Amino acid sequence: MKPGKVWLVGAGPGDPELLTLKAMRVLGEADVVLHDDLVQAETLRFAKPDARIVAVGKRGGCASTPQAFIERLLVAEAAAGHVVVRLKGGDPLVFGRGGEECEALRAAKIPFEVVNGITAGVAAPAAIGVPLTHRVACHGFIMVTGQAAGNGPDWMALARAASSGMTLVIYMGVAQLDALCAALMAGGLDAAMPAAIVERATQPGQRALVTVLSELWAEQRFQQIGSPSIIVIGEVVRHASPKLLASHIPCSPQELDHQATGAYG
Ligand code: SAH
Repeated sequence: MKPGKVWLVGAGPGDPELLTLKAMRVLGEADVVLHDDLVQAETLRFAKPDARIVAVGKRGGCASTPQAFIERLLVAEAAAGHVVVRLKGGDPLVFGRGGEECEALRAAKIPFEVVNGITAGVAAPAAIGVPLTHRVACHGFIMVTGQAAGNGPDWMALARAASSGMTLVIYMGVAQLDALCAALMAGGLDAAMPAAIVERATQPGQRALVTVLSELWAEQRFQQIGSPSIIVIGEVVRHASPKLLASHIPCSPQELDHQATGAYG
């Protein structure tokens, strides 16, 4: 029997045109496709007509497929000689438990390869015109989960990093947004730091808001921005598209450019 194989494939943030050519190719060759909830229906159209498509979604707070079941299914399908695509939103190895799936496949001696996708933390800021770094104002970015606000990331350390010019990109943070913002401000991050949320980046229902840290939670609740969303906090948010910036942030992108020229001129 021909040995099977698993491809761990990133579907990108939603827009099917953001799939890689390699993702499209392996999707077209797979006998079985196991996909997350985050994967859009249009992306699944690249699968073979006779491929078996299995939804193994796991969304915070909803009924979900246990991780152990997904891993057993991946191993069983590949062991039966099938070419399997495990299709995950964004990049397969960013916050998607892809690492655990690699371990399970390695333990079962199933050959696998990873096909990167564009992660939401990169796509969401771009979708509103926000760069993650900027030569003057921002020297790097930190991608972090907003889940487990209590025993998760060190918010004091993140507040310090953000105060010294790092952009914070927070996944899975809207449900705990009040606690996150409070923790960052308690850690010394300026309440007036620009902040944005992008819901369903690159998808037809994309929505976004731009404000400042101290207003972020109230604005999110008021505008009922939900999941999936990426939160971006940092000076770079001043570069958001002018329509979003209108009336929210005291300093315009032009003013920032002017300051930048002054600093480096
Ligand atoms: N592997 C994925 C992340 C999975 S964790 C990636 O690389 O993008 C799920 C979280 O990703 C969501 O809660 C949300 O924070 C974020 N996310 C995924 N797709 C998104 C999208 N299109 N727009 C905004 N956030 C998204």
